[in-house]
Amino acid sequence: MKENIHPEYVECKVTCSCGNSFKTRSTYGQEMKVETCSECHPFYTGQQRVLDSEGRIEKFKRKYGSYKKDREEKKKKAAEKKKQNQENQKNQKKQEEPNEDKK
Ligand SMILES: [Zn+2]
Repeated sequence: MKENIHPEYVECKVTCSCGNSFKTRSTYGQEMKVETCSECHPFYTGQQRVLDSEGRIEKFKRKYGSYKKDREEKKKKAAEKKKQNQENQKNQKKQEEPNEDKK
């Protein structure tokens, strides 16, 4: 190692927002504060957990959550209309046919 060009690699404490803290070595030299660590990150816990500290997902769901539902309802209504139209056409044909026979 060349002298006087390397930063000091010292022990430093890491504190996570979940309350966990541990010691590691770093050139940072101060106490580190992190939002996720190996104790609480879903990758390590194996649990599906959403790290949504600002409520952004809630906001999104409130804004667009009904979108799929609305679309399905629209589709249903459209299908019902189509059916009705087809039935109406059938009825009209039935009404027209006897008249043609009389001619
Ligand atoms: Zn943590």
